[in-house]
Amino acid sequence: MAFCRSSLLLRKAYGGSRRAAAVCFSYGSLLEGSPSYSDRRRWYSSSEGTTMSASGYNVNGGPSHMRGAVFWEANKPLTFEDFEMPRPKANEVLVKTKACGVCHSDLHVLKGELPFATPCVVGHEITGEVVEHGPMTDSKISERFPVGSQVVGAFIMPCGSCFFCSKGQDDLCESFFAYNRAKGTLYDGETRLFLRGSGKPVYMYSMGGLAEFCVVPAHGLTELPKTLPYTESAVLGCAVFTAYGAMAHAAQVRPGDAIAVIGIGGVGSSCLQIAKAFGASEIIAVDVQDEKLQKAKIFGATHAINARKEDAVAKIKEITGGRGVDVAVEAIGRPQTFSQCVQSVRDGGKAVMIGLTLSGAKGEVDINHLVRRQIKVIGSYGGRARQDLPKLVKLAEKGTFNLQAAVSRKYKFEEVEQAYQNLDQGSIVGRGVVEIM
Ligand SMILES: [Zn+2]
Ligand SMILES: [Zn+2]
Repeated sequence: MAFCRSSLLLRKAYGGSRRAAAVCFSYGSLLEGSPSYSDRRRWYSSSEGTTMSASGYNVNGGPSHMRGAVFWEANKPLTFEDFEMPRPKANEVLVKTKACGVCHSDLHVLKGELPFATPCVVGHEITGEVVEHGPMTDSKISERFPVGSQVVGAFIMPCGSCFFCSKGQDDLCESFFAYNRAKGTLYDGETRLFLRGSGKPVYMYSMGGLAEFCVVPAHGLTELPKTLPYTESAVLGCAVFTAYGAMAHAAQVRPGDAIAVIGIGGVGSSCLQIAKAFGASEIIAVDVQDEKLQKAKIFGATHAINARKEDAVAKIKEITGGRGVDVAVEAIGRPQTFSQCVQSVRDGGKAVMIGLTLSGAKGEVDINHLVRRQIKVIGSYGGRARQDLPKLVKLAEKGTFNLQAAVSRKYKFEEVEQAYQNLDQGSIVGRGVVEIM
């Protein structure tokens, strides 16, 4: 077995060779362990039911196990582990993961800034191919997502039947927050991920996308047309989804609005593209990296401000005739930029917060300014999977949303650790996506 960088990291982190030897794989060994292309075709096209064997669960005669990247402890590298093949339950879909985006929310978990159940598999921005439906799944779901079809998954996976889901507010789904975000499970209180051999449960951040297969509640999925690529389309499920939720529901952007976006990462740059699609007139990008501001122009920014060189609030006021913007979006998650966002909006304007931050962090607001000037401070976590995700797919299909420009770096599955390091260093302009295939 070849020694790769991650095996050295693993040895360093865990002080032993057992796990490193067990989990590190070269590309060659990965291919050897996988079914051949023709096996895969037979497996996907098989109409036979699922089978159980002494060695475990088999999907239509496919492999009984899979690999996934596991997070164990804050600031320790992810390790690749063997899992039993996950089993979907009613109204859930087993997806062969093709690509998974690299997002700051995962990074917050990996750095211990957002508490989450461990061990877990992060990754919540996926595309893939439908492999199987859980037993007793609604026939409408199986018809909508037939085996072999392409899908994209939203990170907020609505249960479809709670108080908020029944009002169409999928982005506030009680089951999602109570089970997935609070416990790392799906909505029966159980994970679908178990280590091969030991049977140890591993929790799921959303669907646990950094694995060769994932189980997704069907309401969190939308069909992905064959004309759209797996890799670039992964960003639809979080970066674009979050941007759309902020612009459509929280800000309710109208044509002609002036918009400022603070923080031009994967989500911020998607906000620029959505603002343009909604007909915003002034689109002001604010960041501290010139490279990101350069790229912002491609995404539709009409103005760019480097907040390290200029006073961002003063400059935004100057661009908007002294008034401030109709809508300002904070896509970083820092107390300082939270305040900048509030100060950047005109009287009666909307300051929309979408950047997650350290658990317990507080943002300051000038109360009198807020009261007298009717400033609206609005939190927004994401979009509404069932109504919004199909629209995002259409925007991408028509080229209104430029997926190719949104994705700036692609990583192989075994480079996942590197991907999060690059994200942490701020060196990914736009979005990085891990190709799992
Ligand atoms: Zn995300
Ligand atoms: Zn719900």
